[in-house]
Amino acid sequence: MLDAVVVGSGPNRLAVAWTLAQAGLDVEVFERDPQLGGGMRTDTWGDNYRADWGSAVHPMALASPFFKSVRLADRVEFVVPEASFAHPLPTGAAVAWQSAQRTAADLGRDGRRWLRLVGGLTNQVEALVEGALTSPLSLPARPIAAASLAAATLQGVMGAGLRSLGAQALLAGVVGHTIGRQPALGASAAGAVLLALAHTVGWPIPIGGSQAIADVVVGDLRRWGVRLTTDTHVDSIEDLPQARAYFFDTSARHFLQIVADRVTPGYRRGLARLRAGNAVSKVDFVTSAPIPWRSPEVGLAGSVHLCGTREDIWRAEDEVARGRHAERPMIVLSQPSTFDGTRVPEGMHSIWAYAHVPAGSTVPQTAVIEDAIERYAPGFRDTILAVRTTNAAQIGARNPTMPGGDFASGAVTLRQILARPNLRRAPWLAGDGLYLCSTATFPGPGVHGMAGYGAARHALRSTFA
Ligand SMILES: Cc1cc2nc3c(=O)[nH]c(=O)nc-3n(C[C@H](O)[C@H](O)[C@H](O)COP(=O)(O)OP(=O)(O)OC[C@H]3O[C@@H](n4cnc5c(N)ncnc54)[C@H](O)[C@@H]3O)c2cc1C
Repeated sequence: MLDAVVVGSGPNRLAVAWTLAQAGLDVEVFERDPQLGGGMRTDTWGDNYRADWGSAVHPMALASPFFKSVRLADRVEFVVPEASFAHPLPTGAAVAWQSAQRTAADLGRDGRRWLRLVGGLTNQVEALVEGALTSPLSLPARPIAAASLAAATLQGVMGAGLRSLGAQALLAGVVGHTIGRQPALGASAAGAVLLALAHTVGWPIPIGGSQAIADVVVGDLRRWGVRLTTDTHVDSIEDLPQARAYFFDTSARHFLQIVADRVTPGYRRGLARLRAGNAVSKVDFVTSAPIPWRSPEVGLAGSVHLCGTREDIWRAEDEVARGRHAERPMIVLSQPSTFDGTRVPEGMHSIWAYAHVPAGSTVPQTAVIEDAIERYAPGFRDTILAVRTTNAAQIGARNPTMPGGDFASGAVTLRQILARPNLRRAPWLAGDGLYLCSTATFPGPGVHGMAGYGAARHALRSTFA
């Protein structure tokens, strides 16, 4: 009998396999895709272009306790852009530099307010990230970090007193990563954590793409003799080998179908309460020149938020929350070839972007994203050499853990951050030796591996003790 069977190979499931195999346990991984890595896959398209299929920018990769134990920072080369994110506006651009002081200096009369918003967060960043990612009950054990997060969350919801269009847009843009109505407590809390990272470790980009992160973990697994079975879609737990524990990197609904009546009634109720989230529709471009931003400092940013003013973002997110396509949706864009020459042939440039859309959307966002870039970078369209469009439904079809393109596998609201799916010290434990530890569970979306790490450490203390 195996010690553990792991279904899926996203960051959370690789974290399970890594933690258990490192402890000397016998583990097998099953992945439906030919390629390991889930949302960390980098694939090849067009004329041998490399692009991140999912995640591209990694605020949590250097800060996550799991990736710290992998010693990721020593094993993958990261570039940390001097500008974590930028927000072009009709009148110029606002930039969140890695340095909070430099950001404040650019924001003029809002500078002091910006420092008041982020100061408590950046002072406490390590405790904050550990508390926010480890378990829903671990933040109260770090009272100073918890108080800083609570203060920044409330300030964020109330707009932090910011008066300039630039500062307001910077805040709404970072909060917008959660894909949901604003202002809202859950989105504001998640935005506060991303902001703390933006002004400390930065928002790094791995050389070679996100696959480089997956490859380090997979390399360890192979060395430790973990069996990695790809091209195998798991429909039922009955089809899996006998094991002392099972760990699933699936959506909540899919998990219930696979494990049927092995879930405890309380856990089943928690999963049934989980509200689905909205989605992303993605476009990759290869161009003959860097994006000709009207404000050149935008070209220094690892991530760019395109959606006009704070009120424009709120309106667009509200449309999507109502299940409609926004005319000018929130767009997140990265320009990886600015920092990493390995993605496309010399002289070419790569752009990765997605727009927020209703879950399950099949409407391509290519023209919407092209228009948005062109608005702030006239001439961009003339540089396009190749385009790949992946709509939200196609994202969900390639990876059912992101149903209909919902990469969070469930809306990110305050209730669904704390009770994802239940408010417990080990919110991944679904039954006897049975764990769900995808983004559908605490701490939710992002490449941090912490749902898997938490589940594996719980299993080491209980099932495998
Ligand atoms: C376009 C896009 C952009 C993103 N950008 C970022 C970013 O810049 N930074 C960031 O931190 N995050 C980003 N994310 C989110 C991030 O990718 C996810 O939050 C993260 O990958 C979730 O990890 P996971 O381990 O829970 O699951 P996933 O990475 O989704 O992996 C799940 C795996 O399980 C497999 N699987 C599912 N069901 C079965 C089954 N029944 N049988 C076998 N295998 C199965 C899937 O094929 C997949 O490989 C982005 C996502 C997308 C789609």
